[in-house]
Amino acid sequence: MLEQAKNRLGGWLSMAWGDRFARWAQRFASTDVAQAESSQEIGPAPRRAVDRHRALYTQIGDFLFAHDLDITALNFAFAQDHVSADPATVRAVNAALAQYGCLTNAVVEEIIAERDADKITPETLETMLAKVESHLAEVMEVTEGSRASADDYGTRLKEQVDDMAESPGGSTPAIEKVIALTRTMIETMRAAEARLKASQKDARALQRNLEAARRAAEQDYLTGLPNRRAFEAVLKTRESLAREGGRPLAIAFCDLDHFKAINDSYGHDTGDRVLQFVASLLAQVSHDGCHVARHGGEEFAMLLDATTEEAARIVDEARDDLSARKLVNRDDGARLPPVSFSAGIADVLAYSDGRAALKAADEALYLAKQQGRNRVYIAARPVQGG
Ligand code: GH3
Ligand code: MG
Ligand code: MG
Repeated sequence: MLEQAKNRLGGWLSMAWGDRFARWAQRFASTDVAQAESSQEIGPAPRRAVDRHRALYTQIGDFLFAHDLDITALNFAFAQDHVSADPATVRAVNAALAQYGCLTNAVVEEIIAERDADKITPETLETMLAKVESHLAEVMEVTEGSRASADDYGTRLKEQVDDMAESPGGSTPAIEKVIALTRTMIETMRAAEARLKASQKDARALQRNLEAARRAAEQDYLTGLPNRRAFEAVLKTRESLAREGGRPLAIAFCDLDHFKAINDSYGHDTGDRVLQFVASLLAQVSHDGCHVARHGGEEFAMLLDATTEEAARIVDEARDDLSARKLVNRDDGARLPPVSFSAGIADVLAYSDGRAALKAADEALYLAKQQGRNRVYIAARPVQGG
């Protein structure tokens, strides 16, 4: 009995804690892979994707442990790039290893900053956010599992060592050394457990920050309205819903008239306030069936669950309301000339997709401008079937 316990402890002690943890993590992953494989014959095909993800996950874990990198979302994404053999990442890692002899969290951050300096676009940001969020969810799941296991092993090991220490006649210098070493190891495990707990807390905070970043990435900072990117996503969803349900969907493209003159005469700050005011006015029109976004510059896009005629009436009311207002400049109390917008409206379902409908609305807007501005035009329906 004592012999068995000694062997087990000896096995534990002969490996460094990091190695053991890495192997444990690997066992954790490979057990599930084996289970997945055995269920593959009768299981559905998507199981294979799960296996691939688990294998990838193991490789990512190996990379992080091999380089003693913290389990952070950034390092996780970086490790995934490396195991997926992303050329820029592999090159940068090789160069860093040649220069510093090892990778550290700071070196990884430096590599990412350099590698991605010219790659951050809204699209890459969106991809990164999605990637980080999904990794983070996995990290949190595994961290919780690791923490619970470390806690469990630690408690069991401590019980065993306490038993051995108290066992009469079992005390030899060799066993006492084993007991002392094991106690040190338990302390190390407890410290690792505390670190995992802290990582979990960080991961949760990061997840909240990412949600805020995602919201910010889809919002126009000046007016608080959804931005063009968000609008395009909503357009896609609403378009397919409208097509499925056979319900009308109209798109409106609004552009402020002679806005450059307002900037030129009253300054950019006044121009900004006018944009904010128009945004709030259009947002008032907005309800469940209407979505308003700042499409860019002094242009606003709207989606309305309505026919083009109904949409034209709603947008024209907003136009009329705006052009009848007497805006006063907050800076000098000067009365601004009437501010108005022109708009073009199109029936989304009459076009091949939302983009084509937006283009048609833009063309109708162009006609409205040509015909004198401060008016709303409906795009002529495209001729069907030639
Ligand atoms: P039109 O009636 O033909 O649309 O004339 P316009 O002057 O409104 O159109 P133009 O495209 O010539 O000018 C648009 C102006 O909008 C130019 C640009 O400086 C201004 N603008 C774009 N974004 C902003 C912004 O965020 N703030 C301010 N103050 N001005 C902006
Ligand atoms: Mg414009
Ligand atoms: Mg304009």
